[in-house]
Amino acid sequence: MESNQLLQIAQEFGSPVYVYDAEKIAHQYQRLTNAFAKVERLRINYAVKALSNVSILKLFKEMGSGLDTVSIQEVLLGLHAGFAPENIIYTPNGVSLDEIEEVAALGVQVNIDNLSILEQFGAKHPQTPVCIRINPHVMAGGNSNISVGHIDSKFGISIHQLPHILRIVENTGMHINGIHMHTGSDILDIEVFLYAAEILFDTAKHFKELDFIDFGSGFKVPYKKGDIETDVEELGKKLTKRFLAFEKEYGRELTLAFEPGKFLVSEAGYFLAKVNVVKQTTSTVFAGIDTGFNHLIRPMFYGSEHYIENISHPKGKERFYSVVGYICETDTFATNRRITEIKEGDILCFRNAGAYCFSMSSNYNSRYKPAEVLWKDGKAHLIRKRETFEDLLHNQIEIGS
Ligand SMILES: *Cc1c(COP(=O)(O)O)cnc(C)c1O
Repeated sequence: MESNQLLQIAQEFGSPVYVYDAEKIAHQYQRLTNAFAKVERLRINYAVKALSNVSILKLFKEMGSGLDTVSIQEVLLGLHAGFAPENIIYTPNGVSLDEIEEVAALGVQVNIDNLSILEQFGAKHPQTPVCIRINPHVMAGGNSNISVGHIDSKFGISIHQLPHILRIVENTGMHINGIHMHTGSDILDIEVFLYAAEILFDTAKHFKELDFIDFGSGFKVPYKKGDIETDVEELGKKLTKRFLAFEKEYGRELTLAFEPGKFLVSEAGYFLAKVNVVKQTTSTVFAGIDTGFNHLIRPMFYGSEHYIENISHPKGKERFYSVVGYICETDTFATNRRITEIKEGDILCFRNAGAYCFSMSSNYNSRYKPAEVLWKDGKAHLIRKRETFEDLLHNQIEIGS
């Protein structure tokens, strides 16, 4: 999006505000589907937790996407947005059997990631098709080493426990219709991902009635120029070849599924905040903005470095700033970052603000959550109002005098 369009949105809807570019989301979706165009049955299930506004979910529905959910509440949001239950997969971790049963009763595909629940669910509902989340113990590190780490990860059923899985399936007579992996780490190296895929293929051979193999996500997106990003086109080429060969060997048509969040929405998001104060200390110039980690926690929580641009004065002379929030705790977005000269009242724009930004926001310091705007067909659509004082009191029960 252009800076002047973003500035106009900040003027019209106030700050701070999240803005999402529908065209960029569609572009990313297309990129992924094009990369796997040779796979007849491809399923992209958008990971709702990245950005769960219902209008965003509806965009994905229009494009033909399914959903990946991790809570029954995300499932309900998806159904509310108009998704058919069979186009939703539910991949929770550490939730109760009750919730899993409730979701399965809605007709949603359940994905189970521990032996205890697998056995209990299988015994009670042998007819309900279940997907199994495997932990292949492969992680994509900063280099091309394949580390068999995460042996103690809480996610998935260890590949080493395959004999236990098979015993449970046999004893309960349950129907396994999919297998799944999601290592969670950024895919820097396609070869590592393909190596994990081989483990999944080997596992798949033990199940005779699979409908799909789900390769999860972990696609890395660039945060700034020169950053490494997952080469989805290359991955598409190599994995398609292997998948089609495996399908033949398996002797049954299979769906290839992915469930990206970040890849689809990260770069489509912009977070706009106003500079309240420029404060010069002995060694640093702080730009204090009208937001904090209550609205954008990633820099504090994960150390993510969002590119920041002064869209009010994009052509000024560059200076070094530490951009900080208004929360009464250390609340740093950027340290000694080169930004064009900032004046109080300027609007700063954070990039890569689509994934895990609004969805992780809170009311800490009793601040209102920001508004969300969807830029679609050349128009700004408000898709969430800024909160008000009533929202802060909503659900509170006042006792005493
Ligand atoms: C969070 C999550 C995803 C999405 O991961 P991204 O890195 O945002 O693409 C996919 N699958 C599962 C099971 C997840 O928990």
